[in-house]
Amino acid sequence: MTRPKISKETVDEIWKRFEEGASLRQVEEEFRVGRWTSKQIREGTHPHQQTGDLKRCKTCGGMVVMPCMVCSSQELRRLYGQKP
Ligand SMILES: [Zn+2]
Repeated sequence: MTRPKISKETVDEIWKRFEEGASLRQVEEEFRVGRWTSKQIREGTHPHQQTGDLKRCKTCGGMVVMPCMVCSSQELRRLYGQKP
């Protein structure tokens, strides 16, 4: 029994369906996913739903997913000496 891997887009779609009030069974039939997958998505624990932990960036002080994109783009700008 092989279970197809689902894309992040599908996970998002399924999550939306749950928000609209769909049941596990409806989602399983509609998206052809397993019980475990649909449950994970409903509980928000599917790997595709983990966007990374927000951390306090020491450089800019923002709550960001590390590495901080804000600071790394500023760092690049500094390294290459281009003013925006
Ligand atoms: Zn930063």
